[in-house]
Amino acid sequence: MEYGELVKAYENINGSSKRLDKTYYVSELLKKTNDEDIERIILLLNGRISPAWDKKEMGVAARLVLKAISLAGGISEKTVEQEWKKTGDLGKSTFNLMQNKKQATLFSQSLTVKKVLDDLRKLTEISGHGAVDQKVKVISGLLSSASPRGAQYIVRTVLEDMRVGIGDGTIRDSIVWTLPGLKIEFEPGKEGNNTYSWEIEKKIEKWLQPKEEGVKNFYFQIVDIVQDAYNIKNDFAKVILILRKNGLGALKKVDVSIGNPMKVMLYQKAKDMKDAFERVGRPAAFEYKYDGFRLQVHKSEGKITLFTRRLENVTSRFPDVVNAVKEHITGEDFILDSEVVGYDKKTGKYLPFQNISQRIKRKYDIERMARDYPVELNVFDIIANKGQSLLKKPFSERRTIMESLVKETPKKIVLAKQLITSDEKEAQKFYEQALKAGEEGVMAKNLKGIYKPGSRVGYGVKVKPVMETLDLVIIGAEWGKGKRSGWLSSFHIACQDDEGNILEIGKVGTGIKELEQEDRSLHKGQGEESDGGDVTFNQLTKLLKPLILEEKGTEVKVRPKIVIEVNYEEIQKSPKYSSGYALRFPRVVQIREDKPVDEVSGLDYVEDLYFGQR
Ligand code: AMP
Repeated sequence: MEYGELVKAYENINGSSKRLDKTYYVSELLKKTNDEDIERIILLLNGRISPAWDKKEMGVAARLVLKAISLAGGISEKTVEQEWKKTGDLGKSTFNLMQNKKQATLFSQSLTVKKVLDDLRKLTEISGHGAVDQKVKVISGLLSSASPRGAQYIVRTVLEDMRVGIGDGTIRDSIVWTLPGLKIEFEPGKEGNNTYSWEIEKKIEKWLQPKEEGVKNFYFQIVDIVQDAYNIKNDFAKVILILRKNGLGALKKVDVSIGNPMKVMLYQKAKDMKDAFERVGRPAAFEYKYDGFRLQVHKSEGKITLFTRRLENVTSRFPDVVNAVKEHITGEDFILDSEVVGYDKKTGKYLPFQNISQRIKRKYDIERMARDYPVELNVFDIIANKGQSLLKKPFSERRTIMESLVKETPKKIVLAKQLITSDEKEAQKFYEQALKAGEEGVMAKNLKGIYKPGSRVGYGVKVKPVMETLDLVIIGAEWGKGKRSGWLSSFHIACQDDEGNILEIGKVGTGIKELEQEDRSLHKGQGEESDGGDVTFNQLTKLLKPLILEEKGTEVKVRPKIVIEVNYEEIQKSPKYSSGYALRFPRVVQIREDKPVDEVSGLDYVEDLYFGQR
């Protein structure tokens, strides 16, 4: 496919804020895409060059792109810079500059989607001496064969700053809209109540049950089938290809595949034990809620693979966990869901998540890290066993299977501590016991609940004592002054709406320390400002500096990548921020390196909390 086709779709999608319009444009694009390009289009639509769990980075700073624009357009860097200052958007500037440039050689070649993606992927492999020049060359090569609009979107893709809001929900619906046999009547861009209607042909009806519920329900059943398949496959391209090749029936049969990560089940929040029982039924299973990070453990034909909740393969970082699984779990061909918790190697005391978060990232000194930061695996669910999926089995049955497989060995591998009860008082006692043991709270689970990947369906709820914190992504910051000069100091934070649009909710500058741990021990007793958490300005600055997209005076805009947990005294309505809300006295609790940006708190959740305050 020509890149220009995709650019047209970007423009259409950008041109409307209505979800149905976007759905229409994406579905039209998908219909035009052949099998070979499907994966590329799905990635590029979201401004990605590889799936979210793949850590490959293009590593291209805005300065470098500026150079590439200058080279491609034969425009001085100064001119590019001036234009950039004017628009505050390097993509838009590229378009303006390239359009003004009447150069016959420009845009003469054809540029395919494949070529764009192949070249952008080259950027992830260039490193070492001369890397900057090489990267500039690759990018400028692409820019000079693109149209002005194309160049705009290439720049945005390189900067990972797409500004095209397409959520997973829209892509899912667009896939449904491409189904042959489903007739959608829809006109994009129509003002007022745009009606759309669908008609489902007999040939797809046979996949849908129950039949008597009417056409409308059929449609939502198809949506569910696509969503369920996506939650397991994690990849819309795969879903589309199955649908194209083998139809809806095959998609309905998509099941877990051991060795391939799938989305994990998520939990809702309950106020207290009474609320917990109301949501999950009586009796319910109560479990300690451990404060670590989630790990999906796969064993397939003897091979053990570990995935984080971001679905990143971290097997090589946790040889100790691999060994524990090998030694203390008897089964074969299974998938476990678990929480990894760190403990102090001297005292054996369990430690909060941030103490082991560095192990997720660390690529060297692995053995030493495993010795210094030992972990225990708390198994709380099982998704497959003996090669068979357990998704549809009730939780009580899954727990029995876990119990038969896991040979509990404290400080290596244990089952989540559990109590089954119908009694509120007993549950409350268990909860208090959990808190006393230093855990975050408890989970209450429906004994009959199935395992629903990727959904917050409510088969399990969490009960925690503290005011619910928010997981927010950093989108900007300000360079500090005085003592804090050289560091980024005030951080602009954002939540997201259900389309994945990033919405600002305020700024945070407290809860962050000025000194690193080692320095702090030297300064003990010297009146060092104590500010709670263990996050430092230096640490955040190091993380954010490579993500800077724009700088204006002391303000910087950064790529939304770093997720932090933030608490606050109150949520207030505020026209000042795009979310419509602001936080009173926000404070950084910790950096959540395990959380992907698409799991930052949603606007509806912020709204719930806002109304819940009253
Ligand atoms: P939250 O991150 O606050 O939404 O809480 C849900 C998370 O708690 C899960 O994603 C797990 O990582 C973690 N967790 C700790 N203990 C358990 C447990 N016994 N059952 C389920 N999840 C648990």
